[in-house]
Amino acid sequence: MIIAWWQSWQERRRKARTAATIQRHAIDDQLWRNCLTALPFLEQRSALELARLRELCSFFLGSKEFTGAQGLEITDAHATMVAVQACVPILHIAPVDRPDLALTWYDSFVGIVLHPGEVRARREWVDEDGIVHSGSERLTGEVMEGGPLMLAWSDVQAAGELASQAYNVVIHEFIHVMDMRDGQADGCPPMPRDKRRLWLTALQAEYLRFKEASDAWQRFGRITGQAEPLLDPYGTESLDEFFAVAAEAYFVQRTRFAQLHPELLSLFDGFFSKSAEKLNQSSSADQS
Ligand SMILES: [Zn+2]
Repeated sequence: MIIAWWQSWQERRRKARTAATIQRHAIDDQLWRNCLTALPFLEQRSALELARLRELCSFFLGSKEFTGAQGLEITDAHATMVAVQACVPILHIAPVDRPDLALTWYDSFVGIVLHPGEVRARREWVDEDGIVHSGSERLTGEVMEGGPLMLAWSDVQAAGELASQAYNVVIHEFIHVMDMRDGQADGCPPMPRDKRRLWLTALQAEYLRFKEASDAWQRFGRITGQAEPLLDPYGTESLDEFFAVAAEAYFVQRTRFAQLHPELLSLFDGFFSKSAEKLNQSSSADQS
């Protein structure tokens, strides 16, 4: 009896906290409409999914701290554009009645640094013969374990147009965050051991196919008029980069992704869309 009372009290307290967080970080209507207009790949989402996304954004904004670099002054518009795109991968990852749990996927860091454009970073690497090389790399996003996460505002802002190239820097970096949540960047987010084995087997097979297709296109594609692969060639770098690149296409170019990568589609649906059906069922139940 006391346990039942305690559980129901806890549940009421949690719901009150959830409602308070959403209210405290509520997104202005006009700002929300502007974000949706700027990101046409969200048009395929139902009204209920978009309402859920808006709730998640409030949690996100309440749990992250934004800093502008190189003179960039952060406004609500900057933070909300990042939040909307960052919350797409976790839209259906938690139970329908626990939007607060979805954000635990991103609780390994707090700071997000926005640069106006891409950043040049010094790099050193060792080749197969043990010789150390140095140079610079142009970055539009980067995340380190424990944070902060860096993004180029130029690419965050242009995400609507860049979706035609299956490119989304925010989704890319937040997929890395999910991947690294168990401490390793290996292309597999935390999951039970048996599922992990199946995940890595399926992803590895697609990765090898993609490397072959990408190499063939680089060599002969332009000559033979073959179609360019949908996924960014950067995905050939490693399995964890392939995961991030494939997830970008999954979220912003779903129809083409489904045609070209049906195995990955069902693999990703099983992970990212766990509660999608329930959410839509609750929508039809509400309407009936
Ligand atoms: Zn990456």
